[in-house]
Amino acid sequence: MTAKLIDGRAAAARLRAKVAEFAAEFRSHAGRAPGLAVVLVGEHPPSAAYVRSKIKATLEAGMESFEHRLPVEVSQDDLLALVARLNADDSVDGILVQLPLPPHVDDQAVLTRVDPTKDVDGFHPINAGLLATGLDGLVPCTPLGCLMLLQDELGDLSGLDAVVVGRSNIVGKPMAQLLLRASCTVTVAHSRTRNLPDVVRRNDIVVAAVGRPEMIRGHWLKPGATVIDVGQERVEQLDGSRKLLGDVAFEEALEVAGAITPVPGGVGPMTIACLLRNTVVAAYRRNGRTAPEGL
Ligand code: NAP
Repeated sequence: MTAKLIDGRAAAARLRAKVAEFAAEFRSHAGRAPGLAVVLVGEHPPSAAYVRSKIKATLEAGMESFEHRLPVEVSQDDLLALVARLNADDSVDGILVQLPLPPHVDDQAVLTRVDPTKDVDGFHPINAGLLATGLDGLVPCTPLGCLMLLQDELGDLSGLDAVVVGRSNIVGKPMAQLLLRASCTVTVAHSRTRNLPDVVRRNDIVVAAVGRPEMIRGHWLKPGATVIDVGQERVEQLDGSRKLLGDVAFEEALEVAGAITPVPGGVGPMTIACLLRNTVVAAYRRNGRTAPEGL
């Protein structure tokens, strides 16, 4: 068997086109574009690169981008003061504080100060609670993108067995909640899980969010399973070059899975598209309107 490749770039392009349509509709109704503020502390090169692509994508979708770069030595109080200003700024619909923050800043202290209605990363405990109780909040971008890819590929997920490997607050836990909401029977595996290969093999859907390159082997998979690989780690090759690898041994998985996301070109592009989607949804709601159908 050779698995079908799930094209995250194409899915993200479709979502971004829809976002741009709704951003234009919002602009004609509200007299301003939806606005996303991005806060970057320090010069951590991968974070700076993520922020650049987020800003570019925001502008391409016809939305307003507000960039705030702070020096690495910024105090937590100054960072909280910026968050408070962005919370109070009506032209800002979404606030994203790029992680990781420097060690002297408490991530949670900052993330919990973001107004939950502008929390387009979906990391605020209020949004986590809304997701867990099945209410409308803002859902973390990466798991939301994974769910969209699964629904594009499989349609109705109801009754399917799904395993999420990884239980982080930003990927694993919200992914499990979304799959549960879609009526899958969900297992959450983590570093203490016994017999992980057997657990993985029982499932129709495997979402890998571990951060350990190629840990999940082809022979762990149920034949025909749909595999979503969230992992992305740069690994040095013998020739000194660095290659981006997922959590799934891709070549092996191709022989067993029914469909699989490649790395790169799978989950990654959907994360940014979902960030734009969340910003438009936040803008509509903040304007007293329901979020657009089909976003
Ligand atoms: P994280 O916070 O480090 O969480 C990793 C999870 O994997 C933890 O729950 C950990 O279990 C579990 N784990 C570690 N070793 C394991 C093992 N041997 N067997 C089973 N489970 C194990 O990572 P994250 O932030 O969720 O990110 C995971 C990966 O996704 C990373 O490669 C990251 O770069 C990538 N990512 C990609 C995107 C994207 O847009 N494509 C976005 C976010 C993250 P414990 O809880 O027991 O420690």
